[in-house]
Amino acid sequence: MPELPEVESVKRYLSENLISRKITNIDIYYEKIIKGYDKLLVLSLIGEEFLEIKRFAKVLIFVLTSKIIVSHLGLEGRFYIYNNYSFKKHEHVVFSLDNATFLVYKDVRRFGSIEIFDKSTFSLESHFSNYGEEPFTITVDDFLSKLYFKTKTIKESLLDQSIISGIGNIYADEILFASLINPTKKSGLISKKEGISLIENAKIILKNSIDNGGTTFKSFESSLGVKGNYQNYLKIFNKKGEPCPRCQTPILKTRVGGRGTYYCPNCQKDIKIIAVTGNYGVGKSTVSSIFDKYYHNLIDCDKIVNDLYLEDFDLISRLVSEFHLTSSNIKLELKQKVKMNPKLINELNKIVHKFVFNKINDLIDEAKRDRVILEMPLLFETKYDKLVDYSVLVTTDNSLLKERLIKRDGENLFDYSKFQINSSQIKEKANYLIQNNSNILQLEEEVLKIIHEIN
Ligand SMILES: [Zn+2]
Repeated sequence: MPELPEVESVKRYLSENLISRKITNIDIYYEKIIKGYDKLLVLSLIGEEFLEIKRFAKVLIFVLTSKIIVSHLGLEGRFYIYNNYSFKKHEHVVFSLDNATFLVYKDVRRFGSIEIFDKSTFSLESHFSNYGEEPFTITVDDFLSKLYFKTKTIKESLLDQSIISGIGNIYADEILFASLINPTKKSGLISKKEGISLIENAKIILKNSIDNGGTTFKSFESSLGVKGNYQNYLKIFNKKGEPCPRCQTPILKTRVGGRGTYYCPNCQKDIKIIAVTGNYGVGKSTVSSIFDKYYHNLIDCDKIVNDLYLEDFDLISRLVSEFHLTSSNIKLELKQKVKMNPKLINELNKIVHKFVFNKINDLIDEAKRDRVILEMPLLFETKYDKLVDYSVLVTTDNSLLKERLIKRDGENLFDYSKFQINSSQIKEKANYLIQNNSNILQLEEEVLKIIHEIN
């Protein structure tokens, strides 16, 4: 399938040959290739002059005197310019030009299309409103906001033209390899640093490919006279079994979102996140710390929240302005405001959770390990369970829990609001249940059983 660099090469080639040419005749051999075929509209192209050829993502836009032609090349659509013409199979549209040359559209698999518009009513913005921006223009914040909380893989998001335009299968693999990101990583777990890296590498790789005329494989050979060389510069695509250019580990091939995908298992680590959750006082921290003994990588959400309230000036200033805070202890002031107006909690959570999730993504990225333990009290309530690989719910007997809480907080501080049984719904959602009856050896055994299963 032609990708952005190939279509850009075609655009440049066509621009050199078509600008200022006038259409003198049109022959259509397969009407269906013209979207919404209308004979009169087609004939109205005769006499029109090619003023400019543009490209958006993988789409060619021919700007004529009073008409616009938009062409999606589909899987194998190609434009050729011939000096003389006799009909050949799969050539569906032939424009005769005023310098006695011919512009020919060929499409063996017929997935491409040509559409004609009146210039006066055509708007590039509205025609491509479902498309995201190209890597050359998208901002990192815009890109990351489109990935926020998305569970589909980052490879699928790179191919999703509504998120970012112009990246196809070959370049997605190359961009992910250059950014050292596993193609199956969930989009919502991409850190800011990784987002920056993806956009930067996308720009570099697409630009290099454009400079080399795109990539030419058997399945794609662009317009006459345009043959790309970028296939000689590919580092990972189509190289199953060859040594990784960074670390010499053999490159693997897998399928992601139905597409053949190449990656280095060493440079692009497949990080698994094991989340530990449960109510106040059930012994989450004990369970997390046992996991940590084996994986050496614990992310504690309560600590993240506390640190954010103390140190994150973006969050603090956001909260101060949204909630009109005046005191220096914003956490306490917010608590009081929420007590007076319980509806505020949703608004507050929406803001704080975003900061917490971004911080988790940064920490997972920094850890550079293939297993991460995440201790998160509100795992299911925040729906963050959708982004993790395994969830472990810690529970305990109610009598034991009460005893433990009284021991911790004192009889008169015992807070019944924190004393809840996990709903059966939550129990069903969890991948693993650990019943904590204050026997540390038994706990360790249960954790080891899970670790054994996960590995
Ligand atoms: Zn490698």
